[in-house]
Amino acid sequence: MEKVIILGTGPAGLTAAIYCARAQLNPLVIEGAEPGGQLMITSEVENYPGFPEGITGPELMERFRKQAERFGARFMSGDVRAAMLKNDPLKLELENGEEVASRALIISTGAAARWLGLASESALRGAGVSACATCDGFFFQGKEVVVIGGGDTALEDALFLTHFASKVTIIHRRDELRASKYMQGKAHENERIEFLWDSVVEEIRDVSQKRVSVVVVRNVKTSERTELPCEGVFVAIGHAPNTQCFRGQLEMDQVGYLRTQPGTTHTNLPGVFAAGDVADARYRQAISAAGTGACAAIDTERYLAGEHHS
Ligand SMILES: Cc1cc2nc3c(=O)[nH]c(=O)nc-3n(C[C@H](O)[C@H](O)[C@H](O)COP(=O)(O)OP(=O)(O)OC[C@H]3O[C@@H](n4cnc5c(N)ncnc54)[C@H](O)[C@@H]3O)c2cc1C
Repeated sequence: MEKVIILGTGPAGLTAAIYCARAQLNPLVIEGAEPGGQLMITSEVENYPGFPEGITGPELMERFRKQAERFGARFMSGDVRAAMLKNDPLKLELENGEEVASRALIISTGAAARWLGLASESALRGAGVSACATCDGFFFQGKEVVVIGGGDTALEDALFLTHFASKVTIIHRRDELRASKYMQGKAHENERIEFLWDSVVEEIRDVSQKRVSVVVVRNVKTSERTELPCEGVFVAIGHAPNTQCFRGQLEMDQVGYLRTQPGTTHTNLPGVFAAGDVADARYRQAISAAGTGACAAIDTERYLAGEHHS
């Protein structure tokens, strides 16, 4: 039986692995279907401390992994498809049918941005199409961009982008926003923000040039199509945390984000901890994921040493 299993190899999981390995807990890390996590699809990370010149996402994650390996973390490939977390020991079943048991578990399975599902959108991801304004806004100094969505995140992203972009158009499929009245007031007051109501994006051009130049927008009431020139597209229609296999066992919010006890990484079940984007609908950054990964490892170590106070 394992002392601790860590699920996922994004910044949270690999930081937890470094800390658990250095605490002599001999962690087993289940890599997941996307080893390295979300940062593997980004070319430039400029806000991770310690890299003043910036670093590519894959290179950063390779460094995290090497550091975990250096202290003896062990890795197993694949996704977990079922979890029995009310058992003692905790039991997990992998996609290949293999079962593993452990005294403690750190869940750092991350979250995935929801996308529109357009072929042009996936072709231009990282080349002008983004789901993270905090990460990529800086690259759009003096440019015109669009934000797609109508909730608080879309308005927060739009307001943040006005620090860089010359104009931000919020494209929303309805004629009113879901966002809070406060955020709506802030967005309406901002001279750089415009709204395009009752509209959906049907295509993003120009795939052949590998850059964004235009979005083709359809008005859902009139069916009229227009072309809106812009250089960046920020999709802000929500994220989906990877928590399907924990449903019915772990406390989650209505979207599926794991709930942790205030100020800790403890979930509602003993020996089960959560770190990174899987429990964080608010910050969703590599540094905050790594930070909570370290916290989860420390909480795990204390739990295994019998110092658990819930
Ligand atoms: C395009 C893009 C660019 C970004 N740029 C930046 C940036 O510049 N700076 C920044 O700070 N942040 C950036 N982010 C955000 C950052 O990537 C995330 O906040 C961070 O990766 C979250 O780390 P995490 O470890 O919680 O989860 P993730 O990175 O999402 O990793 C989750 C891991 O869990 C695994 N997993 C999922 N389900 C299972 C399962 N059932 N069983 C086992 N394993 C599973 C996955 O395969 C993956 O390995 C960016 C995100 C994107 C998408």
